[in-house]
Amino acid sequence: MKIAVYSAKSYDIEFLDHENKTYGYELDYYEVPLNRKTARLAAGADAVCAFVNDKLNADTLHALAGLKIGMIALRCAGFNNVDIETASELGIRVMRVPAYSPHAVAEHAVALILTLSRKTHKAYNRVRDANFSLERFVGFDLEKKTVGVVGTGKIGQVFAGIMMGFGCNVLAYDPYPDSSLREKGVRYASIEDVFRTSDIVSLHCPLTPETHQLVNKETLGIMKKGAMLINTSRGKLINTEDVIAALRNKHLGYLGIDVYAEEEKLFFRDLSEHIIDDEKIMQLSTFPNVLITAHQAFLTKEALTEIAHTTMENISVYSKGESSKNEVTREMIA
Ligand code: NAD
Repeated sequence: MKIAVYSAKSYDIEFLDHENKTYGYELDYYEVPLNRKTARLAAGADAVCAFVNDKLNADTLHALAGLKIGMIALRCAGFNNVDIETASELGIRVMRVPAYSPHAVAEHAVALILTLSRKTHKAYNRVRDANFSLERFVGFDLEKKTVGVVGTGKIGQVFAGIMMGFGCNVLAYDPYPDSSLREKGVRYASIEDVFRTSDIVSLHCPLTPETHQLVNKETLGIMKKGAMLINTSRGKLINTEDVIAALRNKHLGYLGIDVYAEEEKLFFRDLSEHIIDDEKIMQLSTFPNVLITAHQAFLTKEALTEIAHTTMENISVYSKGESSKNEVTREMIA
C-alpha cells in the first residue's frame, strides 16, 4: 500500500513513521495541502491521508478518482472539509479518527480561559522585561461562574468535568443531552439560555449547516456584557465580523479562539515574513482581550499517538476490504 500524506508537518511524520513500523506501508509525505491542483501528487498511490484544512471538494475528489485513489484517511475527527456525497458516488471510502484525545482539546479550551482571565501571556512578557508592575492585571475567579457548553459530545463532556472541578456551574446545550452529565450536575438548557446566562461560553459542537455562524449578531447580543467566548471547534461556527463588532463596542469581554473561519490560508504555516492579507485576523490580534492559537488544541503526544494509530488501522481495514466504524458515509450523515 502506498499512501500520499498531505499537509504533513514534522510532528505528523514523526508519529506516523513510528506507528508505520508495525504496518510497513509506503508513506509519501507532502507538506502542501490537498486540493484540486495538488491531487496529482498522489499518482501511483492507493490512498491519501489528509487533515482538517485539506480541500476535499468535488473537484479534488474527481481528480483523486481519476488517479484510482480508493480511500481517504482523515487524520482528524471533523469531516466538514470532505464532500461525502461525491466521495460515495465515486466509490472513495472516507475514514476518520473519531476520538483521539478529547482531553487535549478540552484542556486547551481551559488554557485559553485561564490565560485570558489571568493574563499570564502578558505577565510572561512583562517579567522578562523587568516590569514587575501588576497594573491592569486584575483577573477573575472561575469558582461560581456559569460556564455554557455548546455541544456535549466527547470533548464537551471532558470540558464540562474540568470546569465543574473549578467550582463552576455548568449549563449545556446539545440536541442530544447526555444523562450521565446530568447526573454529574450539568444542567441542560435552550441554546438561548446558555448564551444569555453564561459568563463563559465554550463551543464544542461540529460545523454543520445548522451550526454555521451559530455565534452572530443576535446570539452575541443576548450574551452577558463582559462575557468570554471560547472556540476550539471550527472557525465557521462564528461570524467573525459580528464578533469584532461585539468586541469593539465592549459587549463581548474576551475572545479565545483556536480556530478561525478563514484559517485555511493562514494556519499551520510560518508567515512571519509575509504581509498578511486578512484584515479580520490582523484586527483581532490587536485587541488586548483576544487570544488566538493556530489550531493547536489537538497537539499533544497522546493525541498524535492515537491519531497515527487509528489512521494506520483505518488504512489496514481498507486494504483488507473490511468494514469500519470509523467510516464516514452519506447514510451516516443522513
Ligand atoms: P462529538 O461528535 O463527540 O460531539 C459533538 C456534539 O455536538 C454531539 O454531542 C452533538 O450532539 C452535538 N451537536 C450537534 N449539533 C449541535 C448543535 N446544533 N448545537 C449543539 N450541539 C450540537 O465531537 P467531539 O469529539 O466532542 O468534537 C467536537 C468538535 O471539536 C469537532 O466537531 C471538531 O470540529 C472540534 N475539534 C477541534 C480540534 C482542535 O484541534 N481545535 C480537535 C478535535 C476536534
